[in-house]
Amino acid sequence: MAGLAAGAELHALGFADVAILEARDRIGGRLWTDAIGGGIPVDLGASWIHGTDGNPITAIARGNSIATRSTDYDNDVVHFHNAERPSPSARRALRRFWRLAERQPDTDLQSVYEQLLEIEPLTVPDRRYLDYLLNTIVEHEHAADLRNLSLESIQGGDAYGGHDAVFPRGYGQVAGVLADGLDIRFLEAVTEIDYAGTDIVVTTAAGATFAATRVVVTASLGVLKQRRISFLPALPLRKRGAIDGLEMGVLNKTCLLFDDVFWDDDVEVIGYVGARRGQWAETLNLYPYTGHPILMMFNAGAYGARIERLSDQEIVAQAVAALGSMYGVIPPPRDAIITRWRSDPWSQGSYSYVPVGSSYQRYAELGEPVGDKLFFAGEATHVEYPSTVHGAFLSGIRAARQIAALPAPPSAPTV
Ligand SMILES: Cc1cc2nc3c(=O)[nH]c(=O)nc-3n(C[C@H](O)[C@H](O)[C@H](O)COP(=O)(O)OP(=O)(O)OC[C@H]3O[C@@H](n4cnc5c(N)ncnc54)[C@H](O)[C@@H]3O)c2cc1C
Repeated sequence: MAGLAAGAELHALGFADVAILEARDRIGGRLWTDAIGGGIPVDLGASWIHGTDGNPITAIARGNSIATRSTDYDNDVVHFHNAERPSPSARRALRRFWRLAERQPDTDLQSVYEQLLEIEPLTVPDRRYLDYLLNTIVEHEHAADLRNLSLESIQGGDAYGGHDAVFPRGYGQVAGVLADGLDIRFLEAVTEIDYAGTDIVVTTAAGATFAATRVVVTASLGVLKQRRISFLPALPLRKRGAIDGLEMGVLNKTCLLFDDVFWDDDVEVIGYVGARRGQWAETLNLYPYTGHPILMMFNAGAYGARIERLSDQEIVAQAVAALGSMYGVIPPPRDAIITRWRSDPWSQGSYSYVPVGSSYQRYAELGEPVGDKLFFAGEATHVEYPSTVHGAFLSGIRAARQIAALPAPPSAPTV
């Protein structure tokens, strides 16, 4: 999104000589609409426009007649793995948890949780319900475990108002709109950016070199953290500090297509209070949006990363076991697609988060240009809307405008 937005905005601003070097064989990056069951669109990366009011993605969707459907998170059901139920007052434990966290905003949330249990022992069903709430509200949102987060580290960003909305025919349509007319070179994995001379020289794994006057770097934070791109000279200390000071979280999806709906068909969100925190706790029912019997199941943080090591078959067996515990004996899925965003070489995680002890300011630092040659965009460079598609989009527009504001360079193009 950041790269496509930068390219499209540069074009709109009159820059004719712009190329996008893309390591994959497709556009969109973490915006990825694939097909399940031989042709039904399903989003393996981002699903939602988070907050449709004033959101630039809403404007793109409307302007291009791309259908969206609002999500009503209150239209949910919660299932339990056994007959035990939380007490009516169990939700109060969550309020107490937040009050305790407010008194120590820089303490990791796992410690806060343990303090709560010490002060106020909960029954097993109440604790499991609290685990479910913390996992789906905090850990899924930030793609990280409680122990990696503090109140301070989850409270820095901004949000648009209004509903969240999904794309029944896929979020990838938005990427398609932006990509129209751009010069995108696929399977060009950048390995080195030498910005020491007048022209910047970009080298790719295939051995190709590209000369440019300006370069916008939109590789994910994960790719930057892995130092998969060498910068010559090395990036300034402050930039490296920003890369090291932020983390890349994991949210993985298991998408299952069945022959028929056997679940709560008109409910949008299916919660599952299992025996262990953070395992198969949240499922989005795509049936109300698409008319197809598809479930999109989420796992985040350490568990989300752990299942990447399992085979597809093993992951599907776990998903089916969780669904079986909710709905009884269920039929096998007709098709399944599983994501592995941590192992994805061109992403190395799902989206960024601010770890305990770091600060949102790191996002701003990651977004700062290096001189008048290197510009940075991507979700992890947007201090107001990190971790989102709209943040990535806005950061791309920002980079394009930073370039347009500079005096015209003598020669080569922008890459
Ligand atoms: C499972 C999941 C669910 C999500 N849900 C939502 C959601 O509902 N709503 C929301 O707003 N956001 C969501 N997000 C986050 C959102 O998808 C991202 O924040 C956003 O798409 C990131 O865009 P980007 O341009 O910064 O990075 P990317 O999409 O990662 O783009 C970077 C591009 O650079 C390419 N690249 C990387 N390294 C190189 C290299 N060395 N050389 C050449 N090319 C390279 C990559 O292939 C990629 O195409 C989700 C993400 C995931 C993974």
